[in-house]
Amino acid sequence: MRALQESRRLLVLSGAGASTASGIPDFRGASGVWSRFDPREFHVERWRADPEGFWRLRMRLMEELDLAHAKPNAAHEALASASASPRFLGHVTQNIDGLFLRAGHQEERLVEIHGTAAKVRCLACDRFFPYEVVGATLPPPCPQCGGPLKPGSVLFGEPLPAGAWAQAQRWARDADLLLVVGSSLEVTPVALLPGLALERGARLVIANATPTRYDAHADALVRGAVEAEVPALLRAAGF
Ligand code: NAD
Repeated sequence: MRALQESRRLLVLSGAGASTASGIPDFRGASGVWSRFDPREFHVERWRADPEGFWRLRMRLMEELDLAHAKPNAAHEALASASASPRFLGHVTQNIDGLFLRAGHQEERLVEIHGTAAKVRCLACDRFFPYEVVGATLPPPCPQCGGPLKPGSVLFGEPLPAGAWAQAQRWARDADLLLVVGSSLEVTPVALLPGLALERGARLVIANATPTRYDAHADALVRGAVEAEVPALLRAAGF
């Protein structure tokens, strides 16, 4: 694809569709998580109002996602390998499964903008702990200070980590091409990034199985499975 071949400052924006081939369901796809769970249960206000009920459901969701057994697929591996290229500016992922890092992605070129499900954070002492500290006692107490623990991923109703959002916006302004990989582009503010990049004259390529609100602005649309399409696209473009 010419747009990708010509790119010298590539920014990738990925979402849950990058990990469905690893066995992790997306949220809004046909058999997505929201067909079985109510998204309102994962709002930060729900956690504040009833931490025990919140954590009970969160543990069920984590069992269903089963992140510990998931392995990176060909899309993670191709993007991880491309991230070493001098033409690769950065990658903003909405995924909380850690699979890009496990595939060997350059850390300084990856922003996990919705945090990570592998960790929990204590709101009293501000330390992070592995998710496995969540166990028998609900709501789970901080193993260091007994304070309240929150998932290490961003909940609905919470702001994004300021540093991560600032980096994502900088990359969106500097990129010459934004490649979307497996995202419905429905979750804001991340879904504002394509608009920001387009305003600055970047090209847009969307690799997603189903239509998105930005399709009309894209230079190219790739409708196949990203684990097959993205490795081939990157290889053909010299990444
Ligand atoms: P989404 O569920 O809203 O959209 C995923 C998109 O990917 C859908 O449009 C679907 O049609 C497409 N898709 C699914 N499998 C595909 C494949 N193999 N090839 C091509 N396209 C495919 O996901 P989103 O836009 O990332 O937003 C959802 C939010 O949910 C994010 O904030 C993210 O943090 C979170 N989430 C993360 C994970 C994960 O970490 N793996 C899983 C579910 C949800």
